[in-house]
Amino acid sequence: MTEPTTTGPMTTVSATTGPEPKVEIYDTTLRDGSQQVGLDLTVADKLRVAAALDALGVDVVEGGWPGSNPKDAEFFARVGELDLKHAQLAAFGATRLPRRGVDDDVNLKALLAAQTPIVTLVGKAWTLHVDEALRTTREENLAMVADSVAFMAAEGRRVVFDAEHFFDGYFADRGYALAVLDAAMDAGADTVVLCDTNGGTLPDDAARLVDEIAARARARVGVHFHNDAACAVANSVVAVSGGARHVQGAANGYGERCGNADLFAVIAGLELKRGHELLPPGRLAELASTARAIADYANLPLASRQPYVGSSAFATKAGLHASAIARRPDAYAHIDPGAVGNRQKVLVSELAGRSNVLAKAAELGLDLSPELATKVLDQVKAAEHRGYAYEAADASFELLVRKTVGALPEWFSLDSYRVVIERSAAEDRSEAIVRLRLGGERVVAVGEGVGPVHALDQALRRALSSFYSALSGIHLVDYKVRILDGRAATSAVTRVMLTSADSVGERTTVGVSDDIVTASWEALTDGIAFGLLRAGAEAPPTAPHTDAPQDIPLHLETIAENA
Ligand SMILES: [Zn+2]
Repeated sequence: MTEPTTTGPMTTVSATTGPEPKVEIYDTTLRDGSQQVGLDLTVADKLRVAAALDALGVDVVEGGWPGSNPKDAEFFARVGELDLKHAQLAAFGATRLPRRGVDDDVNLKALLAAQTPIVTLVGKAWTLHVDEALRTTREENLAMVADSVAFMAAEGRRVVFDAEHFFDGYFADRGYALAVLDAAMDAGADTVVLCDTNGGTLPDDAARLVDEIAARARARVGVHFHNDAACAVANSVVAVSGGARHVQGAANGYGERCGNADLFAVIAGLELKRGHELLPPGRLAELASTARAIADYANLPLASRQPYVGSSAFATKAGLHASAIARRPDAYAHIDPGAVGNRQKVLVSELAGRSNVLAKAAELGLDLSPELATKVLDQVKAAEHRGYAYEAADASFELLVRKTVGALPEWFSLDSYRVVIERSAAEDRSEAIVRLRLGGERVVAVGEGVGPVHALDQALRRALSSFYSALSGIHLVDYKVRILDGRAATSAVTRVMLTSADSVGERTTVGVSDDIVTASWEALTDGIAFGLLRAGAEAPPTAPHTDAPQDIPLHLETIAENA
C-alpha cells in the first residue's frame, strides 16, 4: 500500500470524461454485501473479489470495517499484495462515540491504520435513531459527524460521509436530516451519500429528494440503496438522472435482507441506456464473467434470472418465435447480450419446433440438415416424455444433439458400477466401485463419499483423472432431485439436475430414471463428458473388439485419503 493520497473536492466533482458527467462506482460487496445470510468470505476470498472488481474497472472498493473485526483488519494489512490498477480502496467506520474526543477513539484509529486513501464514515441522519439507538442529543450527533469528518480530512483522507437512514430521516424531520449533511460538508466531506438503509424508498421519492439535495449540495452527492422494496437499482438510476455522481452497491446485489443495489445492473443500465462512461473502455463486456467469478468466490450460485448477467437473462422459450429470433435477435432482447458479455439463448422445450432445434444447434456451431434436425427433435420429444428437462440442462442437450448427429467423441464407457451404503451410529459412508472402458483399456476405481452419489463421483473422477487432466478443474456446485409423477402412468420417476463448474463457467446436466442413483450417474457422466468436450480432450483410440477381458490392460485406481 502506498501513502494515502487525497483528491480535493474541487478537482473531483467537476471531472468529466464522457458525454455524460462522470459517475463514481463504489462497491461495498466486501462490507455491506457480506452481511448477506449464507455469504462468508475468507480474507483470501475478499482479496480475490477486490482483484475482480479492480479488473472490471470499479472506481472504489470498500474493503471492510477495520474497527469491527480482525478479518477486515487483516484484509487491509494484506491488500498491498494486490497490484490494483484502477480501484481506490476505502475503509468504513462510524463517527466518534458520544461525549468523547476523536483522538482516543479506537474505531477512528483503526480506520487510519488501514492506510486507505478514502475513509467512509457513517453517521445518523434520522432523529429516531439519534434519540433511541444512539441515545444522545441531536446537537451532540451533529458534533460527532463534524468532529469525525474534520479529523479524517485533517489526516489527509478523502472523506465519504454515509448519511444512514437519510430517506426515513428526511420524512421524519427534513430540517435535521439536511443539518446532518451540512455538518459533514462544512467539516470537509468530499462526498455525502444518501443512504436508504431500510430499503423501503420508491423511485419517485428517491428522484425528488436527490434532485433537491443535489441542487443545494456543496459536495458530490452519492446514493446507497437497499432492495427491500425491489427498487434499489431503479432508485440508483433515477438518482443519477437527478444529479447523484457516486453510486454505491454490491456485486450481484449481495447484502442483508433483500440485498444492496446490484452494481452490475446499475452499471449496465447507465452505460447502455444513459450514455455514462463508468468503466474503462471495453470493460462492460467483462460484466457477466465478473459476476460469475464473484459468485464463485462467494460460493453462491449466480441466479439464472439475474438481469444482464444471468444465464437465462436473454433466454426465450421460443416455440413459435424461434425462427423469428434466429432472423432478428434484436426483436426479442432489450440490449445486445454481447455488450455485457452474455449471450442469447433459445430454450428447448416440448413446444419446440424444428426451427427451434435448428436455432439451438446453430448456437452450438452445428449446421444440421433438415433430416438431422427432425431426428434430433424426435429424440428430444421422446426424452422429454420420459421426464428429461432440457431447458435448464443445456449441457445435456448439447451432448444429445452431438450424439444424434455423430459429433460426440466417446471418452469412456461404463462396464459396471456397484455402490455399498453403510450406515452406523458413528457415521454414514458409501463406497463405490466403477468399471470403465477407455478405448483399449479397462479401469477399475474405488471411491468413498458421504452418500452413494458422492462416492460414485469420487470413483468416476479417480478412474478418469490420470487420463484426462482437465477433470481436476471441474467441481460440483449444485445437485437437485425431483420426483415426477408417472408420466407413463406406471411409476414415479426421479429427475436429477446437476450443476458443475470450471474456470470457463457453469453447466447443468440431467439424468432420469426410476432409480435415484442411476439418474445421478447419468447426470454425473454427462457433466464429465461436457467438461471434456469443452476442454477439447481427445478420446482414446477404440480397441479391436474382444470377448476376453483378461487380454485388456487393467488399471486399478485406489482410494485416496479423505476421498
Ligand atoms: Zn447499507
